[in-house]
Amino acid sequence: MTNSTSTFETRGPHENTPRDTPRDTPRDTPRDTPRGNTAHAIADLRRRVVGTVHTAEDPAWDRARMAWTVNVDQQPLAVLEVHDADDVQAAIRWAVDHGVDVTAQPTGHSAVSEAADGVLLLRTRALDEISVDVQRRTAWVGAGVKSGELLAALDGTGLTFLAGSNPDPTVVGMTITGGISWFGRSFGLGADSVVTVELVDGLGRLRRLSADEEPELFWAVRGGGGSFGIITRIEVALHPAPSLYGGRLLWPLEQMAAVLDAFRTATATAPPELTLWFHTYQFPPFPELPEPIRGKSFVSVAAAYLGNAVEGERMLAPFRSVKGIAMDLMGELPMAALGSIADEPTEPMPGLQSSHLLRELDDQTAAAIVAAVGPDSGSPLTVFQIRHLGAAFAAEVADAGSHGPVTEPYSVFALGVPAVPELVPAIHGQFARVADAVSAVDSGRTLLNFLESDQDPALWWSAGTRARLAAAKQVADPLGIVRSNRPIRS
Ligand SMILES: Cc1cc2nc3c(=O)[nH]c(=O)nc-3n(C[C@H](O)[C@H](O)[C@H](O)COP(=O)(O)OP(=O)(O)OC[C@H]3O[C@@H](n4cnc5c(N)ncnc54)[C@H](O)[C@@H]3O)c2cc1C
Repeated sequence: MTNSTSTFETRGPHENTPRDTPRDTPRDTPRDTPRGNTAHAIADLRRRVVGTVHTAEDPAWDRARMAWTVNVDQQPLAVLEVHDADDVQAAIRWAVDHGVDVTAQPTGHSAVSEAADGVLLLRTRALDEISVDVQRRTAWVGAGVKSGELLAALDGTGLTFLAGSNPDPTVVGMTITGGISWFGRSFGLGADSVVTVELVDGLGRLRRLSADEEPELFWAVRGGGGSFGIITRIEVALHPAPSLYGGRLLWPLEQMAAVLDAFRTATATAPPELTLWFHTYQFPPFPELPEPIRGKSFVSVAAAYLGNAVEGERMLAPFRSVKGIAMDLMGELPMAALGSIADEPTEPMPGLQSSHLLRELDDQTAAAIVAAVGPDSGSPLTVFQIRHLGAAFAAEVADAGSHGPVTEPYSVFALGVPAVPELVPAIHGQFARVADAVSAVDSGRTLLNFLESDQDPALWWSAGTRARLAAAKQVADPLGIVRSNRPIRS
């Protein structure tokens, strides 16, 4: 499906005036003076950049504008595959001159139409630098580098970065809105492991942010997301990971209550080096899936332990005593194989999600969860997940970024795959059932990285944080042209 935008509002270079309040979305404030036309502006963009510019006239437009979550039907004005950091700067200056908003969307794992509609959307894949400094324990990565690519580069170094479940999101994208990692219980949030950020701000100025350089913007970008400019590269701290033991155990879904019980027992005493996630899965009857899982439902525990197999197995004892293990995928893993633990899809797919943070996981809530998504529930969810957080996630960190600690010990995440539109109401109905099941212990907050596309980031940022982020945005993007999937509304 295409959206042929033939004209759009543009301003000349001298007509831009800072707005009183920063905004991330053009819907709040209409553009000032319509001027120019799309064809001229796009021709001007093509003159200024080296990378490829796609527009609605392009036969490959639908592919170019597509997000990883393919059900988000975003309609940018144009898509630029940037060639290098100079292209980012040229693109923002063009956007300023023509009165167009701009956003970065390397993969679209967390696509929000509001951030992308009508904008110049930048694909940063070509910014693929990975420079690992084993001595300093830091790595510079370009804005196109995926989490799995940095993990692969760290293989054999005995170091890791704060990677999440899926190897496909970019290091930049997942880190600037929190970075909920397998290793967060040991080392905290990905956002707080950022050492340096280089970005092009909303006026096309290069800025370097660190604890010593522009500390307020440095605070803002570590949890405030992509609202302050387009990041070209980032330096992240690396952490010791001499060995990794982990994987998954799967049982038939009928064992859900027993496995959830074991999960609560194991997480009550787990050391920071051990992270456990509880899952239920419903695999569709697709022929491309392996026979042992095709069309079947399972309950599972996934584990990542920064330590050896003997110790790791000792901690998994509560699960080993649950009968009927259908698959045992535990083992010693190279860091590059971290993504195999959750084994999530990396190819674009439709998805709807819902998430909650829990103050605790008590008997009543556990029973309510089993009733809501267990064997007899009729749940249409593809994945239901409970992540154990706590330990360093909850710690107050000196010089922390704007994300702030996650004090809740558990996060719940539900994923539905609307393979056909008719499934959408059933999935939303199931999200409501899950919300009811956890309501007694729901903290009312939702992790920024797990917000559904139509949810307000105020479910994570406090009013005080939003006001401070808005002030930082005013400094970096006084014209309010940089849009983010997590808009800052003070
Ligand atoms: C299957 C799956 C598993 C996930 N697991 C985890 C997990 O374990 N832990 C976790 O923390 N999160 C997780 N997430 C959430 C994920 O981290 C976010 O979706 C993240 O935003 C993805 O980053 P991206 O750049 O790949 O996504 P995109 O959707 O391409 O970008 C998201 C936003 O990031 C900002 N952004 C990206 N690059 C730049 C840049 N160069 N400059 C400025 N802004 C930029 C933009 O505002 C953009 O709107 C998961 C998501 C999915 C779909």
